[in-house]
Amino acid sequence: MTARGELRVGGLTPLTTIDFPGRLAAVVFCQGCAWRCSYCQNPALLEAGAPAALRWDDVLAFLGRRQGLLDAVVFSGGEPTLQAQLPAAVEQVHALGFEVGLHTAGMYPARLARLLPRLAWVGLDIKAPFHAYDAVTGMPGGAAKARRSLDLLLAAGVPFECRTTWDPGLFPASGLEELADELAGRGVAHWSVQGCRIDGRPAVGVQPPEVRRLSTRFREFRWRD
Ligand code: SF4
Repeated sequence: MTARGELRVGGLTPLTTIDFPGRLAAVVFCQGCAWRCSYCQNPALLEAGAPAALRWDDVLAFLGRRQGLLDAVVFSGGEPTLQAQLPAAVEQVHALGFEVGLHTAGMYPARLARLLPRLAWVGLDIKAPFHAYDAVTGMPGGAAKARRSLDLLLAAGVPFECRTTWDPGLFPASGLEELADELAGRGVAHWSVQGCRIDGRPAVGVQPPEVRRLSTRFREFRWRD
């Protein structure tokens, strides 16, 4: 049982080289998400009230033993900013000497704004062209929140990458081109796109030609398999 007031942790990756560019990091998966994307790869993390897999104190103890071995800790999910306990957890991790990264869909821009001074890198999910957002998230109103979070990141100067998981059943490749125009026009420098997986299988066989053309719009563009 998770102690009252403690970050609810759904899982931990002790070492990764891909979740915070250029850093050796651990990833803390936070329980709970308010959205319901049809392709979500972490369904066990969606229910905020599900029993925690790990106690936060045990995660902190683990991180204490990794000082000097890891560069950073990434809070992922689920949606980490859902939890009111996240800012305190970020402070604790920072106090241990780690850089802090965040994976977020930007659904709570005010909470993201409060965290930004402590964040060294953010992976911001941009789900779709903004007019098509609700069809992806299963909830109304997400586009304005994600757009606000993007604006906050651009203004703060915190290094970040926009990340889009593409389900061609929800919007066509031309929607990625629209999104590229929007993101590049706002000054986004790093964008990665991956085809979604449905029932464990890739929904996009090969990188479509429309996607290949997008690469020139960004300082770094990645198509992730
Ligand atoms: S925002 Fe992320 S965690 Fe939440 S349902 Fe969508 S893909 Fe899953």
